Amino acid sequence: LQGGGEGLSATEKEFEKALRPLSFSDFTGQQKTVDNIKVFVLAAKQRSEPLDHVLLHGPPGLGKTTLSHIIANELGSNIKITSGPVLDKPSDLAGLLTNLEPHDVLFIDEIHRLNPIVEEYLYSAMEDFRIDILLDSGPNARSVQIGLNPFTLIGATTRAGLLTSPLRARFGINARLEYYEAPLLTSIVKRSASILNSPIQDDAAFEIARRSRGTPRIANNLLRRTRDFAQIKGNGIIDKSISQIALKALDVDENGLDEMDNRILSTIIEKFKGGPVGLSTIATAVGEEAETIEEVYEPFLIQEGYIKRTSRGRETTELAYKHLKTIPPAKTRG
Ligand code: ADP
Repeated sequence: LQGGGEGLSATEKEFEKALRPLSFSDFTGQQKTVDNIKVFVLAAKQRSEPLDHVLLHGPPGLGKTTLSHIIANELGSNIKITSGPVLDKPSDLAGLLTNLEPHDVLFIDEIHRLNPIVEEYLYSAMEDFRIDILLDSGPNARSVQIGLNPFTLIGATTRAGLLTSPLRARFGINARLEYYEAPLLTSIVKRSASILNSPIQDDAAFEIARRSRGTPRIANNLLRRTRDFAQIKGNGIIDKSISQIALKALDVDENGLDEMDNRILSTIIEKFKGGPVGLSTIATAVGEEAETIEEVYEPFLIQEGYIKRTSRGRETTELAYKHLKTIPPAKTRG
C-alpha cells in the first residue's frame, strides 16, 4: 500500500490515471500552495513567458505528479515526464530538452537522484535555456552550444534536503505539500468512488479517509480494496462496517497505522528500550530499506507524534506506548 509511484503495477497506474484530477478545481487541499501557483501560472500566461521552474517536495502520494499535470494543463502546454534515476547520461537529458516546444513543462520525478554530471547540464538549461554538449573525446573533443525553447522544469522530490544548493537555487517557485486532514481526504475518497461508480456512505468514506496516513494515494488504494470487499462479502455498497472489515483484513489499525508502522514502533520499544536508536539499526531490525523508512514511514510517525528525532537517533514517545498496548501482540510482532 505504501511507496512512491515507481513501484505501481500497470493496473494501479491505470487507476491512478483515472482518479487523477485534471484541473485546479478538481484538486482538493494544499490550498495555500495551489492558490499561489494559480497566481504564478496566470501571471506567466499573461506575460507570454514560461512559468518559473517549480520544485515540489513532500512525502510520496500527496499529489506532486498530479499538480504538475494540472500546471501544464492550465498553462496550455505539453508535459514531458522523466525521473532522476532514468536520466543516466547527459545525452538522455539533451534529447528531452531539445524536443521541448516553447513553454512546455519538463517533469523530473525524484530529482534528488539525478546523476551529478547530468545535473550540471541542467544548470545552464534552467538558467539560460541552452546546453553545452561535448562532442567526441580526447584530442577531437569540442563543445557545441545548443539553444533551447524556453521551458518550465518541475522537479519533484521526497527529500528536499538532498538537493544540492546550486540546483535548489535555480527553482523560482518552491512548494511543500503537506499531509491531508481527514475531511479533505473524505471528499477525495467520495470523488474517487463516484468515478469508480461505487456507491459509498459518508461515514464509510470518512473511515477510509481517517485511516489513510493523510495520503490521497493510500486513500484511493484502500477505497479500491474496500470496494472488492463490498462486492464479494457485502451487497456492493461501501458502508462503515464493510470498510472496517476491509481495513482490518488489510492490517490497517484503528489509528490508520499499517503493519510496517507498527513493526517500527514495536521494534524500537521492544528491542531498543524505546531508543534513541539509529535509522540503519531500525531498518535492519524491521527488514526494510533505511531510505524507505526515512521517506515514507518516519515523516508520518513523527507528524502524528509517535516518534521523535533527536541528535542521538529515533525515540518512541508516550503515545507510541499507549498505541501499542491497544494492539494484540500477534499483530505487532513481525
Ligand atoms: P506524488 O507524485 O506526490 O507521489 P501523485 O500526484 O502521483 O503523488 O498522487 C497519487 C494519487 O493520489 C493520484 O493518482 C491522485 O489520484 C491522488 N491525489 C493526489 N492528490 C490529490 C488531490 N489533492 N485531490 C485528489 N486526488 C489526489
